[in-house]
Amino acid sequence: MEFLKAVSSSEALAMINSFRADPEKETVAINDALHRILAEDILSPEDIPPFPRSLVDGFALKVKDIQGAKETAPLFLYVQGEIRIGEAASVELEDGKCVYLTTGAMIPEGADGVVMQEFVRAAGDAIEVTKTLHRGENICFRGEDIAKGAVILKKGGRLSPFDIGALSGIGRPAVPVYKLPVAGVISTGDEIVPVEEAPPFGKIRDINGHTIANLLKGNGAACTFFGIGKDSVGSIAEKLQLARASDLMILSGGSSKGQRDYMADAITRLGGEILFHGINIKPGKPTIFGKLWGKPVFGLPGHPNSCAMVMMRFVLPLLRKLKGEEGYREKKAAGILSTNIPSTSGIEEYVKVTVREVDGDRYVSPVFSKSSAISSFVGASGYVIVPEGKDGYEKDERVEVYLFE
Ligand code: AMP
Ligand code: MG
Repeated sequence: MEFLKAVSSSEALAMINSFRADPEKETVAINDALHRILAEDILSPEDIPPFPRSLVDGFALKVKDIQGAKETAPLFLYVQGEIRIGEAASVELEDGKCVYLTTGAMIPEGADGVVMQEFVRAAGDAIEVTKTLHRGENICFRGEDIAKGAVILKKGGRLSPFDIGALSGIGRPAVPVYKLPVAGVISTGDEIVPVEEAPPFGKIRDINGHTIANLLKGNGAACTFFGIGKDSVGSIAEKLQLARASDLMILSGGSSKGQRDYMADAITRLGGEILFHGINIKPGKPTIFGKLWGKPVFGLPGHPNSCAMVMMRFVLPLLRKLKGEEGYREKKAAGILSTNIPSTSGIEEYVKVTVREVDGDRYVSPVFSKSSAISSFVGASGYVIVPEGKDGYEKDERVEVYLFE
């Protein structure tokens, strides 16, 4: 196998990340916005809460009136009335008095603390307070949760259920988000048949098309599958033409420089440019990245293991860019290796692992497999990266596991 020049994984990522992305915006209802990427900073148009609220069931009072109150020396306050939840407080609290209220009710003018019901004894139309309070105790002040004008969510952030709750709290039924990028996916190979067909002896079912489509789906992209191309420059070029309107094209199979691998030729024949052909990684070395019609195009290796790994390490970072996502953090967990992981020095290697928790410690075991094995992903919890300059890890070493999401 011959490569133009295999780039290192960091060189590959630098080239991929230098791709200019300018995603369009659209407005969607917040309940359709889960996991979408915010296209603008969101500022609160008002103070939240919009009025001071009680955090407990009890009596709103003037803290100066109960200084020194304790169980053995309670202080008396007259009950001036009650403020019901959901109603505006119309009374102004008088000296030496208190007002009954429940959690969430409005604090009346003049009150600066709320004593919990538990620290109060009823005494006719008065109460005995058995505890001193500090000013502001048990009150959530106006704007204390979210101040008017504060940025509550930042542009580029991925909306969580909690973010959507906060948006409803500030009165935003809809938000601007980036449009989902659409990826065009193509499988190639004379031997590949769709899952619905019984493969004749000698042929195999398409795996990559489905793995790629679902990795995209799980990472916030829409996907159009353009079917299975044959091993010829013409057939691959034809499929690429169909995918022309996509924001990103992803092909698999035929990406190496063997005799029967036509992908790079198909891209260049259509006027595209190959930016790199080969990354110094295992699995996944025969990877193509190029530009066609101004759009990024990936040629992934056909081996399902290699294809999925390159998707995760190199395609998803570009996808996040095309989505307008900022501040993404990979999900990682540290653990202790239960056996050695040997590796060839001089190449960055991805080793799938299982993770087992025993008494609060996390044990990591490699799952060794050939790059053609499709079973090794099933059951693995993630993978460990052995950097280019390292010839493996030893048993009991602490390693970081990149977790599958
Ligand atoms: P290639 O990269 O085309 O040389 O393919 C490498 C290996 O991956 C071969 O054994 C192919 O049969 C297999 N392969 C290629 N494409 C797919 C696919 N879409 N699904 C499953 N296996 C594939
Ligand atoms: Mg092939």
